[in-house]
Amino acid sequence: MANGIKIQNFIGGQMLPPASGEYFDSINPAIAQSFADVPDSDARDLELAVTAAEKAFPAWRGMGAEKRAAIMHKLADLIEANAERFIEAECMDNGKPLSLCAAVDIPRAIANLRFFADAGKLLGGNTYESPGSYSYTLRQPFGTVAIISPWNLPLLLFTWKLAPALAAGNCVIAKPSEVTPLTAFMLSAFANEAGFPKGVLNVLHGRGPKIGAAITQHPRTPAISFTGGTATGREIYSGGAKLLKKVSLELGGKNPTVVFDDADFAKAVTGAKMAGFTNQGQICLCGSRVLVQDTIYEKFRDALVKEASDMSIGDPLQPDILLGALVSKAHMEKVLSCLDIAEQEGGRILTGGRRKIVPGRCAEGYFIEPTIIEGLPLHCRTNQEEIFGPVVTLMPFRDEDEAIRLANGTEYGLAASIWTEDAARGERVAARIDSGIVWVNCWNMRDLRTPFGGMKNSGVGREGGLRALEFFTEEKTVSRPNAAKA
Ligand code: NDP
Repeated sequence: MANGIKIQNFIGGQMLPPASGEYFDSINPAIAQSFADVPDSDARDLELAVTAAEKAFPAWRGMGAEKRAAIMHKLADLIEANAERFIEAECMDNGKPLSLCAAVDIPRAIANLRFFADAGKLLGGNTYESPGSYSYTLRQPFGTVAIISPWNLPLLLFTWKLAPALAAGNCVIAKPSEVTPLTAFMLSAFANEAGFPKGVLNVLHGRGPKIGAAITQHPRTPAISFTGGTATGREIYSGGAKLLKKVSLELGGKNPTVVFDDADFAKAVTGAKMAGFTNQGQICLCGSRVLVQDTIYEKFRDALVKEASDMSIGDPLQPDILLGALVSKAHMEKVLSCLDIAEQEGGRILTGGRRKIVPGRCAEGYFIEPTIIEGLPLHCRTNQEEIFGPVVTLMPFRDEDEAIRLANGTEYGLAASIWTEDAARGERVAARIDSGIVWVNCWNMRDLRTPFGGMKNSGVGREGGLRALEFFTEEKTVSRPNAAKA
């Protein structure tokens, strides 16, 4: 057991130990050392949380969007005022560069809370008038909803789900990943000070197959918003179907970066590098398959290999580091085993391909060099399965049709980026790629109002903007005779 931080569940406005009394270690992956104890929660903790949420619901719903927004903004203020602590915690828990936590993770978590707090005020129904009838719709919260988030962008994705659920007037049972629970715990510690009535926000920590499964299978959590792997999503979806739950699934990806020979070469190389290796390749949106027009293939390959091998990798606390540690030993080993498979499949590793030993305090940490592989066909495991690490493959294509065939040739359909200076081609190819998000001459450019989600095995439903708020509500139709026209 760690002697450091003791994480607790947040239930009914109180920090509570798990009913089991059991904890497990949370590891800092950059130094391979335990720094916190994580509650191993079970159905007994869940029962307490559901009861607290149900008790809190009438007041939270009755409070109205304006007052709910003020409380959510206060929570955002508190995180902002303590941003440095959150940034350090995210870095320690996940292994990603501190600079990335400061530039992306924590600011976006704050932005999520503020955006949905305000967007909640816009949520409303519609009216439908005919000579005989007058109807209107009400958007009403469910009551208690469940959110389950992954480890790759811990607080960012936790708040991406939490904020719309709360703004729409629901009470929440939330479970962050057991691998990265710290910032969700820190957020929950500010809930009372922000003014949340007790029971509105409940955060349970523990193992996915245990407390995660209990949450999603509980008969009184009628809506579930899940972000994570496709296999887990499938399990939650089928479990939810038996209880007729409403389920939103944001799942895995095997995203193409498509580079045409008329692209701005330097921008495309840097774009492909950032898409491939940001957050050690552990973003569902990462471009892990780089497709390059054959006329520039060799030149592009050599430039990308050069840029990738120049990326600084090491202690995530250092300001000039671009790649930190992978999230866990198990995940590092999984990614390394994918590299073995790539070689067995005939892939040529052009750069990287190994665990990186970082001298000093991070000598035991879980680092992998940015890796580029070529020479593999579309239908091999390396080009079909999500690796979720700093690994990209390169494939040449002849023309637009072949580019689209390769881009669409996996079971996934989350995101794609296209690099071309021909605007018409950009629009044409974007329209034909089967993915929920397509970027032209950029990657990971986000506007929180836009729909976010995947096609095929990358997900079910769309989040973002009003859609997320609508997901967390039931729309009720009320009709009466049209008195005005009678
Ligand atoms: P997992 O599917 O393993 O876990 C996601 C969450 O589900 C975690 O909180 C996990 O808990 C929990 N969980 C695990 N098993 C169950 C279960 N049986 N019932 C309920 N909950 C469960 O994914 P990872 O955490 O490994 O995240 C990486 C995956 O997430 C990648 O595939 C990535 O592509 C995807 N992802 C998708 C995004 C999108 O928007 N489409 C964004 C980010 C990631 P615990 O960690 O405690 O096991």
